[in-house]
Amino acid sequence: MKKLLCAICCLFSFSAFAQLDSVQLMKDVQTLSANNMEGRKTGTRGNRMAQFYLLDRFSKIPLQTFSNTFEQPFYFTRKEQRIMGTNLYGYVKGQVDSFIVISAHYDHVGTGKPNAAGDSIYNGADDNASGVAALLAIAKYYASHPPKYNLIFAAFDAEEMGLQGAKAFVARPPVPSGRIVANLNMDMISHNDKNELYVCGTAHYPQLKKYIAAAAAKSSIKLPLGHDQEKDGSQNWTSQSDHYEFHKARIPFLYFGVEDHADYHQPSDEFSRINPRFFYQAAQSVLEVLKALNE
Ligand SMILES: [Zn+2]
Repeated sequence: MKKLLCAICCLFSFSAFAQLDSVQLMKDVQTLSANNMEGRKTGTRGNRMAQFYLLDRFSKIPLQTFSNTFEQPFYFTRKEQRIMGTNLYGYVKGQVDSFIVISAHYDHVGTGKPNAAGDSIYNGADDNASGVAALLAIAKYYASHPPKYNLIFAAFDAEEMGLQGAKAFVARPPVPSGRIVANLNMDMISHNDKNELYVCGTAHYPQLKKYIAAAAAKSSIKLPLGHDQEKDGSQNWTSQSDHYEFHKARIPFLYFGVEDHADYHQPSDEFSRINPRFFYQAAQSVLEVLKALNE
């Protein structure tokens, strides 16, 4: 009887923590980083395929649209070429009139010179199919657990071309930017040999530290703070991903990411390199931070 009770308790405490759909999480990251997505470079067929996949996932979650669409097209010039990008975002309604933006870029660098193994597709599984898959999982959680804040889930395009999607979003947000209280950005969260997911941003916004502490207490991976001060030199990540555009607009941010690894911007950044256990815990940790913010 004792044994049975114990087993039931274990099961219960596990399911109480297991709030994200781990099967769907892995399916999303695998699909987005598959060879047929051709590295999801902005303006390419593979990038458009990723958009179709995400639009389908957004409506199934379901996310709400602003002005009847999930799509925000934008234009920018690069190497004297005019390029169109497309941000995808929707929201889950909260109870107050303020917003938190959860973001992850879905674009990557496309195809290029083959590596020694003859592989020329830069799949971008960690960078950043991982962040987008976590974003979808967290959105799904909130679709059935109404939050306090309105939560905007934004998959940005053209991060790899200079944070262009985030720039366009912050320039033309779907809600007044004064009502956006924070940005939580995920970029590369699916494998790390030291079991560490860094949280960058609290040096700028120390008022956010307590939310990380609350999540860290429940997490089986480490959530070290850092990579956000001048003394960090080239390892200061303040301007390294989409959160920088929010920071420039004085919107507090937290950026979640692992330290660079051998697969960074290589054709070897593939689904097979992901550590499912670490990845699930990383996504769950971001959810815990968001839950703490919504208390
Ligand atoms: Zn990235």
